Amino acid sequence: MEFIDLKTQYRVLKKEIDVGIANVLEHGQFIMGKEVEEFEKELGKYVGRQYVISCANGTDALQIIYMAYGIGMGDAVFCPDITFIASVEPACMLGATPVFCDIDPKTYNICTNSLEERIAEVIKVGKHKPKAVVAVDFLGNPADYVKLESICNKYNLILVEDAAQSMGASYNGKQCCKFGHSATTSFFPAKPLGCYGDGGAIFTDDYDMAKLYKSIRVHGKGASKYENIRIGSNSRLDTIQAAILLPKLKALEECEMVARQKVAKFYNDAFEGKFVTPYVQEGAMSSYAQYALLAENKQERDEMVRRLTKANIPNMIYYPYPMHTLKVFENIDYKKANFVNADSYCERTFSLPMSAYITQEEQEEVINSIK
Ligand SMILES: *Cc1c(COP(=O)(O)O)cnc(C)c1O
Repeated sequence: MEFIDLKTQYRVLKKEIDVGIANVLEHGQFIMGKEVEEFEKELGKYVGRQYVISCANGTDALQIIYMAYGIGMGDAVFCPDITFIASVEPACMLGATPVFCDIDPKTYNICTNSLEERIAEVIKVGKHKPKAVVAVDFLGNPADYVKLESICNKYNLILVEDAAQSMGASYNGKQCCKFGHSATTSFFPAKPLGCYGDGGAIFTDDYDMAKLYKSIRVHGKGASKYENIRIGSNSRLDTIQAAILLPKLKALEECEMVARQKVAKFYNDAFEGKFVTPYVQEGAMSSYAQYALLAENKQERDEMVRRLTKANIPNMIYYPYPMHTLKVFENIDYKKANFVNADSYCERTFSLPMSAYITQEEQEEVINSIK
């Protein structure tokens, strides 16, 4: 059994993927070939964003946004305590200070009460300027953008949606990648929409920001490539990856997201009352990038991991450590805060095999192994 069954997906989409790759090998436009533009257009249509700027990976996508907004020394960037470090790492690289917020005990996304407390704290200390919030749709579950937008408006903060895990998810009738001033995603192979290497994208409806992102993507180019007008980076999506992503996007839209809901429901029905099953708020749909359960406590979680591993069932912990406990952040400001929900989550969480292609027999095997 695979944790994320990319092999079956390839078998299903093999013809289109192989033809797409062969076409790129034939035309030879390996960088910024026509498939890149076509993919950006299709993706924009799917998520309902005006501008899609593909790039080399999800971390770069965030970095390009932070660079475009001039985030750096003296700025505070607020981020949930449970995420992958890439959500905030590029801001730190630019000199900004990360401020971690506790998570909501039900959705595991950034807790908006904790966020407001942390903003107040930064203002009170007076050492940093509250600048941006990076909200993460954790495990594919959309964050609370109604509250987040109102908080960001109130304090004049840039809102960035890190949708690396939530391609295909939606909230209040809008697709993920549609929230915030700008959003980002990742095409790392294991994400809900993955390529066969690294890839990422930025989304915005703001023409000027889109222009800036495109410039920073290619060495801060101006009207032409060798007319550089700012410091940028080299962060492009390979044409071959775009050719792979085109049929994968179609499959996500046409059947994979529906299949993922079914798989999640099958697990939910089996585990209801025995573990804490994923909570998706009213009006939201998760992409279930991961299917995570919460055990009663650490001992029970560790026992479930033992049972799964003993039965040869792949399993993971997303994530074992909250951000505030990582060594890399041991000397940052605003380290002390209340992270009860994040701490408890990390001790109790474990994730099961999940993909659009897992069979019911495989799911039953997973369920039986831990019952
Ligand atoms: C995967 C991921 C990223 C980074 O994406 P890469 O393409 O691996 O650079 C950023 N944020 C979150 C929440 C992720 O899960």
